Amino acid sequence: MAKQRINVLLVEDNPVYSRLIQKLLTRSEHQDFKVSMAGTLESAIERLGVGSFDVVLLDLMLPDSAALDTFYRLRAHDMRTPIIIQSAMDDVGLASKAVEGGAEDYLLKDGISSATLTRSIHYAIERTNARGAEWSSSMLHLAQQQFLKAAYIAGLDPNIRQRLLFPERTQIAALPFKRDGVDQVETVFAYRVQHVLTMGPTKGGLRYHPEVSLGEVAALSMWMTWKCALMKLPFGGAKGGVRVDPNTLSKDELERLTRRYTSEFIGMIGPDKDIPAPDMGTDAQIMAWIMDTYSEHVGYSVPSVVTGKPVVLGGSLGRHEATGRGLAYLVGETCRLIGLDTDRATAVVQGFGNVGMHAATFLSEMGVRIIGISDVSVALHNPNGLPIDKLKDYVRQNRQLFGCPYGEIIPGRDLLELHCDILAPCALQNQITAENSLRINCRIVAEGANGPTTLEADDMLDARGIIVLPDILTNAGGVVVSYFEWVQGLQNLTWPLKEINNRMRDVLTDALARTQRRAQAEKVDLRTAAMIEALSRVGAASHLRGLFP
Ligand code: GLU
Repeated sequence: MAKQRINVLLVEDNPVYSRLIQKLLTRSEHQDFKVSMAGTLESAIERLGVGSFDVVLLDLMLPDSAALDTFYRLRAHDMRTPIIIQSAMDDVGLASKAVEGGAEDYLLKDGISSATLTRSIHYAIERTNARGAEWSSSMLHLAQQQFLKAAYIAGLDPNIRQRLLFPERTQIAALPFKRDGVDQVETVFAYRVQHVLTMGPTKGGLRYHPEVSLGEVAALSMWMTWKCALMKLPFGGAKGGVRVDPNTLSKDELERLTRRYTSEFIGMIGPDKDIPAPDMGTDAQIMAWIMDTYSEHVGYSVPSVVTGKPVVLGGSLGRHEATGRGLAYLVGETCRLIGLDTDRATAVVQGFGNVGMHAATFLSEMGVRIIGISDVSVALHNPNGLPIDKLKDYVRQNRQLFGCPYGEIIPGRDLLELHCDILAPCALQNQITAENSLRINCRIVAEGANGPTTLEADDMLDARGIIVLPDILTNAGGVVVSYFEWVQGLQNLTWPLKEINNRMRDVLTDALARTQRRAQAEKVDLRTAAMIEALSRVGAASHLRGLFP
């Protein structure tokens, strides 16, 4: 087979190291590397302007530029070519910051070998190509950067690390369904992504949203893997999505779409294979249609093919409100640990869907005053506290908060910046960013949504001493009770609500305690600690199972 030609720009001022890299690359059996050299940042920028390179190997300490400046200045001139940092042992902190800022990877100069170098180049190019195509998504990029950061600190085996960067199995369908008018057929894109099959069946929600993409579903499936592993559930992560706005569909249209989705993906799902659950834009009724379609297909009732289904069909008590309840448990535990009296605490909740509504309900039951709340239609502020039960009644009748008379309307972007003790983003991804994180004015951020905080914002909040309870911990109550529902279904048993809530509280507080211990031991923030806890488990399981064949 002809060797593949790869053009490398090596930006390095140390001639000894340059020679070593060249030597290592010429040893590769599978690829033909053409290495061009630049000894300064200026000459590197010049070369990138005229040549076409597949990858840049970058030393951050150059005669005309130092540290992260080197990376960002090069990035500003070339947004696309993947950059791998070459780092000395003492500069690992800088190198991992560059990875958080968008570099593909870093390599330690001391331990470099032909295998590590060529593999890193190979995956950097693959990832860049993939992101430019079907996987392109800022959410997947965030999930991958969070993972890489934790993987380096945990010393995860590089073979396993590369495997976990992308999902294991994916199916995409163009899904036709009939609109209510006689002749019109709508075709929408639909996905199911299974990230890790090592830990047992895969588990994760199904999302109906007009902006769902493969990359977003992939990121969410990856977070499901960490969530399940952190909770010690016997599942790998998965997620499904349909790119559609469910609010524009009638109930009959939603049913036809859901049944078609189930039949398209019937080979992938099953109680021992992959178990969907509700997520954004889906609910218990949609789970009931999936269960019915699957059961019709196999010829008998299979309740455990989904979780989050109606209780009368084998759904678990407490599942509907589990994510919000779990968030409140963890906030309560954290308040206890930092000596914050919940009766005197205030909270702002972004989002009034299933997660936000229940989080607000349980927080206010704990005595917390909810001074700000929002949904897609409006953001409301009331320093004396918003009456959550009345807001729920209003939404039941009017579908959204807009027009309800209990608070002052404020711009949506100001909601997150209100002064409060607990800020719970329970709506969308990418809400707390480098742009607004310095104006975030709370003691605890409790992430009910998946991926609401960017990596830069994480660092900025951490530096200001704000506790971030990360999504894979804070919103895991849903999947924990999903697990209980699955177990009850397989055993044909039902557990009382009290038992379910107590068990959920135990699972979550144990995960919080392990995360805090890791954070202290590794001197990292809670998100990185939770990720390390989770990926160590997945890494250990992968090692024990070994690689087939
Ligand atoms: N969609 C929820 C989540 O993101 C629940 C998943 C499940 O219960 O399987 O955690």
